[in-house]
Amino acid sequence: MKGLGASEGYGIGRVMLVVEQKLEYTPKEVADVEAELGRFRSAVDQFVANTFEQADAVRKSAGDKEAEILEGHVAIISDPFMKGEIENLIKAHQCAEASVEQICQMFIDMFAATGDELTMQRAADVKDIRDSILSILLGVQEIKISDAPAGTILVVHELTPSMTAGIKKENIVGIITETGSQTSHSAILARAMEIPAVLSVPNALSQLSTGEQVIVDGNTGDVVTAPDPDVIAEYTAKRDTYLREKRELELYRGKPTVSASGEEYELCCNIGTPKDAAKAMEKDGEGVGLFRTEFLFMDRTSLPTEDEQFEAYKTAAVVLKGKPLIIRTLDIGGDKEIPYLGLEKEENPFMGFRAIRYCLKNRDMFKSQIKAILRASAFGDVRIMFPLITAVEELRAGKALVEEAKSDLRLSGIAFNENIPVGVMTETSASGVIADLLAKESDFFSIGTNDLTGYTMACDRGNSDVGYLYSPFQPSVLRLIKRIIECGVEAGIPVGMCGEAAANPMMIPLLISFGLTEFSVSAVSVLKVRKCIAKWTKAEADEVAAKVMEMSTEKEVTDYLKSVV
Ligand code: PEP
Ligand code: MG
Repeated sequence: MKGLGASEGYGIGRVMLVVEQKLEYTPKEVADVEAELGRFRSAVDQFVANTFEQADAVRKSAGDKEAEILEGHVAIISDPFMKGEIENLIKAHQCAEASVEQICQMFIDMFAATGDELTMQRAADVKDIRDSILSILLGVQEIKISDAPAGTILVVHELTPSMTAGIKKENIVGIITETGSQTSHSAILARAMEIPAVLSVPNALSQLSTGEQVIVDGNTGDVVTAPDPDVIAEYTAKRDTYLREKRELELYRGKPTVSASGEEYELCCNIGTPKDAAKAMEKDGEGVGLFRTEFLFMDRTSLPTEDEQFEAYKTAAVVLKGKPLIIRTLDIGGDKEIPYLGLEKEENPFMGFRAIRYCLKNRDMFKSQIKAILRASAFGDVRIMFPLITAVEELRAGKALVEEAKSDLRLSGIAFNENIPVGVMTETSASGVIADLLAKESDFFSIGTNDLTGYTMACDRGNSDVGYLYSPFQPSVLRLIKRIIECGVEAGIPVGMCGEAAANPMMIPLLISFGLTEFSVSAVSVLKVRKCIAKWTKAEADEVAAKVMEMSTEKEVTDYLKSVV
């Protein structure tokens, strides 16, 4: 069976199917509204108490961030609008079960319709809440997985945060789900607990049975059923090697990031929330190379105020204790939607009114974000980065607004760093082609290979018919990466990379050779990347890069790089 490898490692064990209970009831009219309101409110109280208890358990097994997902459920159900709407239906004599279901469904549909992965995740949260409250109202026992014996592979439709509370790390050796993506709660929770997981295995519940032996390969997404002794031996060896290498990575903790020939690099993290800044520090990141601020604008119904943003940026700056914090200004549009901004549907959203283009036309909103960033710059090494730059005018207009925001703050006597660096996220082919011009007016570059690859290859990675073109190892993309770095070096500005490619072991020798100075990767990849960088001398990397730049096809490049890393 095949799914999506979403949490690394190998699990060899026996299946425990977790089939969700049916939450069935007959909707009815209630005469005694007060009594029904009382039933609903005490179910919510019970839910809140259970959730806090579960959050404590998750805090121990997975961590703070994961516990906060559950605590977020309390915030969602305590939202006066949601609660009020449910109570209004009860006041109109609808039973509590049907009222909870109807309003939750409304939120689920609303979140699910956005098409945005993070907002859609909220739909999963509301489903989890709905099922828990219905279970309480109906007196149905929720699934208990805390009794699973050692060596269990959990098989569930979807791993919900509330389920995670029952997981004992020492007993659960693997997880298989029928739904979920790399960024779903299921994936985040599995990774936080360091349990190998394969998600989105179609019909896993009906194809597997409790007690049967399976192997979960969280790296490739394979699920091996009825493994024979040879296969078990093979995977046992893989698992042992994996665990040994994981221990070895720890040797790189607390060490500087240096190549084998002694060049030093900065190894930062990509974050989405101020809390991730703490995670970045915990995973030994040397700063933040990309703070994606869109997350502050999502999951809400109106724009965050300047003060709210300031608090968020300041929190991250304080956590980083003087280490660099590159804050990218709002990058909405394309695949990142914010429903309350009421952006018009576009024929071609990736080519449309998004990111810096939208911000420059919505100056008040943009200026309040810039002011919030400037104010945070009094608390650390904060830098501003503009996304999706395609022309020098956009950089100039953004910088002019920074100057305007500075003079507003000066007039109000508010502290900020007068010399705050302002840089460009080079993620469009245009920015690569004019990197020489941009470098003259920019304090730094950070290469966003996720978009750079898509725009250069004119291909949407989500479209399976053209996905084969989407590779940062395409000669065209490599030429642009090399050019951007060289233009930065020529102008004497630092050049980083914050796209996924920065953590790819095959890309690392090329970046060393081209002269990249900063790598920004997900927190979990920090030690791996530090180890990869330590493997190469500059001379060896130059030799590899020289060969690669002579090659004509992506396949030649990747075949060759696979043979040398
Ligand atoms: C990129 O485009 O490479 C990038 C890092 O930004 P995002 O993934 O947020 O578009
Ligand atoms: Mg991008």
